[in-house]
Amino acid sequence: MADRLLGGSATFPGADTATKLKLLGVDVASFGDAHGSTPGCLDVTFTDPATRAYAKLVLSDDARTLLGGVLVGDATAYPTLRASVGGPLPAPPLALLAPAGETGGGVAALPGAAQVCSCNAVTRDDIDAAIAGGCADVPALKACTRAGTSCGSCAAMLKQLLDAAGVKQSTALCEHFDASRQELFEIVQVRGIRTFSRLVAEHGRGRGCDICKPVVASILASLGTGHVLDGEQASLQDTNDHFLANLQRDGSYSVVPRIPGGEITPEKLIVIGEVARDFRLYTKITGGQRIDLFGARVEELPQIWRRLVDAGFESGHAYGKALRTVKSCVGETWCRYGVQDSVGLAVALELRYRGLRAPHKIKSAVSGCARECAEARSKDFGIIATETGWNLYLGGNGGFRPRHATSSPPT
Ligand code: SF4
Repeated sequence: MADRLLGGSATFPGADTATKLKLLGVDVASFGDAHGSTPGCLDVTFTDPATRAYAKLVLSDDARTLLGGVLVGDATAYPTLRASVGGPLPAPPLALLAPAGETGGGVAALPGAAQVCSCNAVTRDDIDAAIAGGCADVPALKACTRAGTSCGSCAAMLKQLLDAAGVKQSTALCEHFDASRQELFEIVQVRGIRTFSRLVAEHGRGRGCDICKPVVASILASLGTGHVLDGEQASLQDTNDHFLANLQRDGSYSVVPRIPGGEITPEKLIVIGEVARDFRLYTKITGGQRIDLFGARVEELPQIWRRLVDAGFESGHAYGKALRTVKSCVGETWCRYGVQDSVGLAVALELRYRGLRAPHKIKSAVSGCARECAEARSKDFGIIATETGWNLYLGGNGGFRPRHATSSPPT
């Protein structure tokens, strides 16, 4: 348009419609000729029902040039693939579509002419030149090349290119804080800081972003600085904490009342059943011995919680980085093998630590004997009864790599 206004004859070549989004909790991305409309083009598709991932690459008729693609479920390859559109494939197609971390290509294989930032037409050669010129972190690359300053989707790739060039990365949490997460935790703890605004004013800059705000929310909550929905802290929490419910894949919410130790009265069971029936909720017994009520619309949540609270229930924090459940077996009260009151200890622990916030969710379990029916050793902390006391096991729930806890410190 600028050229035409100045009397030129430029024509609009079309815009880059590549995009990466999260739709109802699912990562999706498309780039280039995603629909395969180029004559003679070839499709390479990858489907993994187990992880609910789908990917498609559209290649030229000689299978040498990447024309476009679609990613659903796992979009980690998006920056590399989008930057490779129009150029030679940086790796064999199946290697490019393999799960994150297993690709045979990656940014190191990107050609110099590949556009890393399509918003500002910045190529890999431009980034490499900036790194050679002294840019040593992502903010410096952004300032020098303008890459990542519009939609921001290539910021992760800038970091990968710095890694590929062997540049030691800053441990700064984000552009608003020079400190790492651990350093910020210690600053908040030692200085007694209670709000995000004070922390960013005294130890950072700007107004925060979607990286530092959740981290600071977690630090403030972990350090026990009051109710997470009080005052300024409320604005740092996501909707799950505000609604006491867990946003699900289809946009509805699930409600999980706390049932300490898995112990519940017939009256309370009936209330849960009536609520589920009246609001047409799908019910599911969870692995933590609670009852999950799925399919609630957001406007129904106050009425659902009113009835549950009136019956003596409270939120089970099934959405929070907090203590979730302390599971139990029936223990010595009912089981002929039981040697301790596992239900009693589980209830006491859950009531003692409910509301405790942490960097990650916490789950526990108590078994009434070494037969381990509560699977205590696969929890963050688990307890197993002995004839003379209790054994404590730590570190069983390993996040992405669950395992049986092996440590049993003296009790
Ligand atoms: S762990 Fe032991 S006490 Fe608990 S239910 Fe199993 S056999 Fe019974």
